[in-house]
Amino acid sequence: MDSARVSDVINAAFAAQRAKVEERRLNFGYAERRAALENLSRAIRENEAAIFAALKSDFGKPEAEVVLSEILPVTQEIRHTLRNLRRWMRPKRVSPSLVTLGTSARIVLQPRGVCLLIAPWNYPFNLALQPLVSCLAAGNSAIVKPSEMTPATSALIARLIGETFPADLVTVIEGGKDVSQALLALPFDHIFFTGSPAVGKIVMEAASKHLTSVTLELGGKSPTIVGPGADIDLAAKWIAFGKFINAGQTCIAPDHLFVHASVKDRFLSALRARIAHAYGSGATSPHLAKIVNDQHARRVSGLLDDAKTKGAKVLAGGGVEGRAIEPTLIEAVTPEMEIDREEIFGPILPVITYDDIEPVLARINARPKPLSLYIFDRDKARVDHILKATSSGGVGVNLTVLHYSHAGLPFGGVNNSGIGASHGNNGFRAFSHERAVLQNRFSALPLVFPPYEGMAKRLIDLARRILG
Ligand code: NAD
Repeated sequence: MDSARVSDVINAAFAAQRAKVEERRLNFGYAERRAALENLSRAIRENEAAIFAALKSDFGKPEAEVVLSEILPVTQEIRHTLRNLRRWMRPKRVSPSLVTLGTSARIVLQPRGVCLLIAPWNYPFNLALQPLVSCLAAGNSAIVKPSEMTPATSALIARLIGETFPADLVTVIEGGKDVSQALLALPFDHIFFTGSPAVGKIVMEAASKHLTSVTLELGGKSPTIVGPGADIDLAAKWIAFGKFINAGQTCIAPDHLFVHASVKDRFLSALRARIAHAYGSGATSPHLAKIVNDQHARRVSGLLDDAKTKGAKVLAGGGVEGRAIEPTLIEAVTPEMEIDREEIFGPILPVITYDDIEPVLARINARPKPLSLYIFDRDKARVDHILKATSSGGVGVNLTVLHYSHAGLPFGGVNNSGIGASHGNNGFRAFSHERAVLQNRFSALPLVFPPYEGMAKRLIDLARRILG
């Protein structure tokens, strides 16, 4: 499609949704939102085989990982939302303050309107549709822009949404950066973006032109600390899982490890054993996803080559066969290496040994706030100290990545790793405008209206004495 045609399609899709905003505000209530979510759930169930096939074609994802990380997060989000939606939608009463005596106050959650959802490629099904659940639950319409890097999944999402929803409620517009930027030029009521911090800045800049609110789910380098009191086998199991699921292409994957010197040897041998048990040896395992495309495979193996050239030592793995990269442990990483600066987003794990936690905390705090931080230690005081001394979007203690799956926890970053939060009630609120409604019953405030003389003045003086 040429760019004039693309912008016609985009403008028409936006105009169709925009034209229905007022009607939807009146008529897209609890029952209609429920029905929309039930339809989405049914469409996912009916298309399970097609979802497996699309993700296999895009990056050889094992079916088990498709279930765990693509399908279940969306269906669980729907289930949790259906269970709680009525309560979330209910206006919340707020007690009056002294000044507002004689009034009643409530917070009413309203749909924002027409929302833009831009998704990344690493969990291309989940990260396009999970935000859609919150978006619909809050009563909005959506234009969804899946990632161009996973074309089979993008086409599947377009078909599935096209068969499930009228285009003036949800529509999918496929394409890459240019399509994304054409969409970003429109005055959406909310933009929910999942992707890299670099593109997040472009999104926020575009949103500022219309003062559109944003939720930015970004990434970064999530540090993991294995302390002197760690349960070694447990740490090895969780770190291997969190790091190598999706071949390391996970926004909340442990990016690099700090391991206390006293447990280093035991931990590394447990981690090597765990990797061998889960993935065997070599780069190709039926339990390990591939890197999404050749360009990214070159980027990830380039990080490894650069590190090796500059003196890093490979402790395990290191094999590369096209888009298959073996789970790899390296050490002796220095600040000159690209791998120390860039989000790795692949199955390579740098291991840094430490004796004193303070320089580790200083190093974490000197860098942009990460999306996740993981701590393995059974000593409560040490864990609490790390929690207090650092900041990150979320934290896993004695586990990795699972905090993503708790619908009651806000999922999101902080500054460079994101703005706002998603999942469950937090996702619902991200797509809602919290409208303040104060209703007069018998407010006494007119007693102090001007002219400020006599009774009005005496009351203001009294108020100053009591409240001041
Ligand atoms: P990306 O930022 O390159 O792309 C994300 C989306 O933005 C895609 O749909 C793409 O088409 C679009 N896009 C790309 N360049 C653009 C531009 N210049 N202008 C406008 N739109 C543009 O991210 P990615 O490579 O798809 O995904 C990987 C990144 O996403 C990593 O940094 C990862 O940590 C992060 N991520 C974060 C989360 C989270 O929930 N916080 C989840 C998954 C991935």
